[in-house]
Amino acid sequence: MPEKPYDHQQIELKWQERWNNSTLFQAEENSTKPKFYVLEMLPYPSGVLHIGHIRNYTIGDALARYKRMRGFNVLHPMGWDAFGLPAENAAIANKRDPYEWTMFNIENMKRQHRRMGFSYDWTREVTTCDPAYYRWNQWFFLKMLERGLAYRKKSLVNWCSECGTVLANEQVVDGCCWRHEGTPVEQRAIEQWFLRITEYAEELLTAIKDLEDGWPERVLIMQRNWIGRSEGAEIDFRLEDNSAPIRVFTTRVDTIYGATCIILAPEHPLVAELASGELKAQVKRMIDSRAAKGPGDLEKEGLATHKHAINPYSGEHIPIWIGNFVLMGYGTGAIMAVPAHDQRDFEFCDQYHIAIRPVIRPVDGDLADAATMKEAFPDDGVVELSGPYSGLPSEEARRVMTAKAEADGFGKGAVTYRIKDWGISRQRYWGTPIPVIYCPKCGIIPVPEKDLPVVLPLSVPITGKGRSPLENVPDFINVKCPKCGEPARRESDTMDTFIDSSWYFYRYCDPHNSTAPFDSKKIAYWFPIDQYIGGVEHAILHLIYSRFWTKVMRDLGLVSNSEPVAHMFTQGMVIKDGAKMSKSKGNVVSADEMIERFGADTGRLFELFAAPPEKEMDWTDAGANGSHAFLGRVYRFVTRNVGQGQAEPSEADRKALRKLHQTLKLITDDFESRWHFNTSVAALMGLMNVLTDLERQLSGTVLADVMEKLTLMLEPFAPYLAEELWEEQGKPGPVFHHPWPAYDPELARDEEAEIVIQVNGKVRGRINVAFGTAREALEKHAMADTKIRSLLDGKQVVKVIVVPDKLVNIVVK
Ligand SMILES: [Zn+2]
Ligand SMILES: [Zn+2]
Repeated sequence: MPEKPYDHQQIELKWQERWNNSTLFQAEENSTKPKFYVLEMLPYPSGVLHIGHIRNYTIGDALARYKRMRGFNVLHPMGWDAFGLPAENAAIANKRDPYEWTMFNIENMKRQHRRMGFSYDWTREVTTCDPAYYRWNQWFFLKMLERGLAYRKKSLVNWCSECGTVLANEQVVDGCCWRHEGTPVEQRAIEQWFLRITEYAEELLTAIKDLEDGWPERVLIMQRNWIGRSEGAEIDFRLEDNSAPIRVFTTRVDTIYGATCIILAPEHPLVAELASGELKAQVKRMIDSRAAKGPGDLEKEGLATHKHAINPYSGEHIPIWIGNFVLMGYGTGAIMAVPAHDQRDFEFCDQYHIAIRPVIRPVDGDLADAATMKEAFPDDGVVELSGPYSGLPSEEARRVMTAKAEADGFGKGAVTYRIKDWGISRQRYWGTPIPVIYCPKCGIIPVPEKDLPVVLPLSVPITGKGRSPLENVPDFINVKCPKCGEPARRESDTMDTFIDSSWYFYRYCDPHNSTAPFDSKKIAYWFPIDQYIGGVEHAILHLIYSRFWTKVMRDLGLVSNSEPVAHMFTQGMVIKDGAKMSKSKGNVVSADEMIERFGADTGRLFELFAAPPEKEMDWTDAGANGSHAFLGRVYRFVTRNVGQGQAEPSEADRKALRKLHQTLKLITDDFESRWHFNTSVAALMGLMNVLTDLERQLSGTVLADVMEKLTLMLEPFAPYLAEELWEEQGKPGPVFHHPWPAYDPELARDEEAEIVIQVNGKVRGRINVAFGTAREALEKHAMADTKIRSLLDGKQVVKVIVVPDKLVNIVVK
């Protein structure tokens, strides 16, 4: 047959239409096959898919297609993280309703996902701004409220003036808003709703060890650090006037005799009592200037209160200071400063000429001299100048001193965590309404379950300024109290959108359930997720929240798994011509533009070929052209060779089959373990080179066999082309209904082994011999080599080491 030119548009559009009108990618509900749940993180519907986004989906789709061919019942769904600020901001900027804007974007992105050939089961699509979905956010909230896992409190919160709303601690990066780099986060006192994630802090931490086999180490390190468990003691320092004591948390109670002052956060409640007049004004300036800067470039600043607190161990009276670097959100908002043994305290006390007093010496050294100390000595050692505790090793001292505090009632052993309860109230419109009502008579009343969902009203005027937009919707705000029937007000804040993504992947298992978030039996079948794929930027936000949510659902009796994700993969970023892609640089390539020029198959293949999937990948047009040219070569090879070939078997058959099975082994190994899809694609290219060289000599049988298996191997990487070539070969599709070809080790075996010959460990030559050549024969071959013979001339052979199929080392003197 004459070869055909590779027209990617014609081929891809033809198959896309067939795929769109089929149920091919639907996961089976009642299957005897083993299950495999592969999932990419659901996108935010920003409107346009670009080449940076598609890498994540391409990896997941290659795996989904491969697993189907390996006989798994594959669940591969997709949905939309549809609530959130960008929709609201776009609505303000473009004067479009957030709902319409979001739905329009979803349609467009869905079209692009389909056009890329991603094999999603669209019957399970989840859109988080759909009341049928978010009613279950509200339902979970009510369940948590019942169990004391949701609570309301006035507290200092992170406030971004750009967003006009509160941020969770996880959304503060280097003191600035995660969405507004350079906008410092302010502390404001606001009433808001919290979820008690700290209740699960210990389990979230200890369960990390169960994830070590399946999760990237750096994600687990980030989670451990974020949870930040520290063991220590809480100690009360009485004030001279006998008012309520100052409680400090310390991990180093063994250094307490070296404490030379107490430092309070400027927001500490005691500051308001201690500070008056000029000091009060200075404190206010301190709070304001910190809000304006962010902790990143904060210079330490202190204010003396001229009051004193009493060290409960030594009875010493030490001064109380106020320090801008002490945060109310961490520990107790008060610290004891031990400048000799903590570098931050050292710098502060040095700056303000506060005494520095060493009380820990190195195990094999002397106590430092305060007058000549240049920096703190932060290590454990032996306690000195500490009354009855002098001479004890640090660890022993901590134990004994904590016991003393407990016995005398001025303190206790304590564990603190860096992670804080999750503040979920947002003073914005485009999110899930929080289902509570405030009644002047009855207080906080949960919306009764039967009244869910509390539907977010549409067509609400949004300005982005001031209070929550829902405050301006009387029909929404004014309600009757469900308890007493008197006029009451609805909560006008909406939920943090990270709630939407905390459990969405459960909903895919039962997306149309209208009486429960899901059927637990379906979850028991599909969970945990076998492979989750997404960006490392979600290591502490989404990936901690969703672990927390799973544990809560388990304790509510809804699921039996404690962790949502068995294997996590974080893909590398896509850059363009060596630079980060950004709107401002104008170097963002949309998926549409890429498909038009190169085709979806080329985009998929190139993204997998250009780098291992966990590494950064540089998109260049030259590289994309190379991948496109390769697919064209494959297409022309198959179209011109269908029904061709010699009648008789030939020597070339053996070579072609060997290369075929070697390629098959490598790609199978890549899927099963290493995920180095770049080497898989390279191997396919190597196979094509061999086949093109041999094509005129191959027998018809082998040619047909090789083309069939080549097409099957192409399926995960370039599914449109695979389907087209399958049809060209007259085979019934779809390709992924056919099993992944088994690799034959006998056929894959190289016939010849290259043997390295060394003399005294130095490589001196190489020879090719038949595989499995015996030791004696190998030694003989090596000795007979002319170059080796001349090297051995006049030397005495002491020993010959032979490693069959690999190496002969001749030791001479
Ligand atoms: Zn912001
Ligand atoms: Zn009431």
